[in-house]
Amino acid sequence: MTAAYDPNNIFAKILRGEIPSHKICEDDESFAFMDIMPRGPGHSLVIPKKPARNILDVDPTSLAAVMRTVQKVGRAAMKAFDAQGLTVQQFNEVEGGQVVFHLHFHVMPRFAGIALKPPAGPMESPEVLAENAARIKAALEKS
Ligand code: 5GP
Repeated sequence: MTAAYDPNNIFAKILRGEIPSHKICEDDESFAFMDIMPRGPGHSLVIPKKPARNILDVDPTSLAAVMRTVQKVGRAAMKAFDAQGLTVQQFNEVEGGQVVFHLHFHVMPRFAGIALKPPAGPMESPEVLAENAARIKAALEKS
């Protein structure tokens, strides 16, 4: 059995606007924004608006909505960064590699011969994150 959802996790605070983020897009059920410690150019996160700790407790309707956004943002990010591939990653519980306990999908454009940087690397500058969010947004608007 999974632990209870903690409404004070960092992504819940981002959703409530209590801490800033570089938003790409949102709809009634999902929210997409840039990862602050990107493992590569254009690394973003897609989360449900409805509280869910991870894939083990998420409501299936909410999960379906999040996956639609993952696909949309993934396609746009590949175009925006001229990527050849896309990695989507999702972790559950500490033992599964999860650090932030609000369900999230990593959406990472991939490039020939370039490995992902290790997780928890340096924080990206707000200027670069804003520029990268704008690039993905522009690609979304064209799609
Ligand atoms: P995970 O739980 O999937 O292992 O990792 C959480 C992810 O959230 C990491 O990739 C980390 O860089 C990202 N992250 C942690 N804190 C923040 C934050 O305050 N803002 C944003 N945008 N991303 C964060």
